[in-house]
Amino acid sequence: MRSSIAAIRNEPMVSASLSPERASSPFRRSIAETLAPLDRIAASSPSFVANPGAVFSSGGETWELPRYVFLGPKGGDEPLRIGLFAGIHGDEPEGVHALVRFLRLLEEAPEVATGYCLFIYPICNPTGFAQRTRSSRSGKDLNREFWRDSAEPEVRLLESDLMARDFHGLISLHTDSTSDGFYGFAQGAMLTRHLIEPALAAAEEYLPRNRGERIDGFRARNGIIRDIYPGVLSAPPRLRPRPFEIVLETPEAAPGYLKEAAFVAAIQTILARYQVFISYAANL
Ligand SMILES: [Zn+2]
Repeated sequence: MRSSIAAIRNEPMVSASLSPERASSPFRRSIAETLAPLDRIAASSPSFVANPGAVFSSGGETWELPRYVFLGPKGGDEPLRIGLFAGIHGDEPEGVHALVRFLRLLEEAPEVATGYCLFIYPICNPTGFAQRTRSSRSGKDLNREFWRDSAEPEVRLLESDLMARDFHGLISLHTDSTSDGFYGFAQGAMLTRHLIEPALAAAEEYLPRNRGERIDGFRARNGIIRDIYPGVLSAPPRLRPRPFEIVLETPEAAPGYLKEAAFVAAIQTILARYQVFISYAANL
């Protein structure tokens, strides 16, 4: 099964890619190599599994939208369902690497995800990631296509999961080439603001926060933007109650290990804080 999944990703199998004649092109980024650590963990972990089957065709080739599920140690009631998304802009690999690093952390310290079921979408735009472009191979910015009757297959697959999973929270990772600091967008549930502030503070251990009054054309306060572009990856518009929705943006220019560490610290903080809110609400 594993080899057929690698084939569906339209790349040499992980083992085959190690031989020089099958090595991937320096210009085409390898999804299989990037996600090899996740597939390795999934092969042996009782709580982390690959969830294949989200396949689509583009340019006459068959591609897979990689999906994984991590079930944390049991908490109180039913697990809280959180969606973690990266790589919807194919030229922003930082979030992809950060999710790989986060899963490595969970392998060592699963208690970080106590009470959670994490649905991980490390590369939401596989064709763009492979060809190192913001847009998908069809030329569309996929992060402007959600809930607009988009025909883009990646968007339809993600929309289908967003409807089916009924997430309590969504965390999306992005990179900004024009910002010199870390910041984020807060949408959805009222409590989102109480999650994003400590998340940005945690990221600040590694990268400065962008405290500008305008970021990316939006009004911002303490690195938090309350507007958003229409059509971004988000919960179904009519879904009530709204999940928390956080978009984290790392500055592109920073060193890779700091960008990843900032993302991981922010994600960990969001999970820890949200758990506190939920248990508080349950005791009201
Ligand atoms: Zn982006």
